[in-house]
Amino acid sequence: MQFSPIKRTLQAVLLLVASAAAGAEPPEILTSIKPLQLIAQELTEGVTEVDVLLKPGSSPHSHSLKPSDARKLKSADVIFWVGPSMEAFLPKILGGLKDTKSVAMMEAHGINLRSMEEDDNHIHDDHGHAHDHDEYDPHIWLSTDNARVMAKAMVKTLVSVDPANKKQYEKNLEVFGQRLNQADEDNLVKVKTAGTRPFFVFHNAYGYLEEQYGFQVAGFFTTNPDYQPGANHLVQLQEKLQKAGSACIFREPQFQPAYIDRLSEGLDIEVGVLDPLAEDIEPGSDSYARFINSMVDTITDCLQEPLPESLLGSSAG
Ligand SMILES: [Zn+2]
Repeated sequence: MQFSPIKRTLQAVLLLVASAAAGAEPPEILTSIKPLQLIAQELTEGVTEVDVLLKPGSSPHSHSLKPSDARKLKSADVIFWVGPSMEAFLPKILGGLKDTKSVAMMEAHGINLRSMEEDDNHIHDDHGHAHDHDEYDPHIWLSTDNARVMAKAMVKTLVSVDPANKKQYEKNLEVFGQRLNQADEDNLVKVKTAGTRPFFVFHNAYGYLEEQYGFQVAGFFTTNPDYQPGANHLVQLQEKLQKAGSACIFREPQFQPAYIDRLSEGLDIEVGVLDPLAEDIEPGSDSYARFINSMVDTITDCLQEPLPESLLGSSAG
């Protein structure tokens, strides 16, 4: 028996749909650094897992491309990264990957970019230039407002390469936004009720976090974590620390420079650890908010510290 043309067309359409569904593998998604992985992973919940290029302990400021990186980059369908002023090792190889969709988050529509010149006003590096940090501060992921913008841009890309999961991506984006609203609400209260102890950070990475929640960093040791701060800069910091009387210094997990101990010797200074690369945060539900919250907790806990008894009632000032 012969099929009618209509039946035959229908059969062909059904076959097409079935094969499309069977072949609809989720895209392979790769991010350059862990904080971007945290965001992307929340957006792909229920669809796929997101991989990350930089291993814990490597600094995006100074990383150089390894053969294993090249393989990972080549097999990805989508790559989310910050921008040439952060991952200077990426543009060259990305330019050669014609089948890969790579999106630099510093170029996302609506992203807030802090000018580095503001920082030059109150700090002068002995090197006299800003190394690979260029014109804008590339630590854009340390602001929830920017995380919202990045998430939106990521979902736009995900939908374009994987329209079959559009609904899921969009639902995840909404949930992500709600988690950030909650985080902002909590963190603003923490900052408002925190103490006023001055705090110093290891490298100039926290400007976006400051702006987001109204923190005030008293000083930083270096612009680029892979360069030693200059002697003049360290002398300035020492003076600031001595004036502060009681202060917090936050170093980073990969860096434990001896000069921090040297400068804080004999002073009422608590040394803590801040990790702008989220090494200890497991990707998964709510992980980006957990990352931001944990940084705010670390800072505000230290600021809260009461003055030691020995300083109360002394007439040092
Ligand atoms: Zn940095």
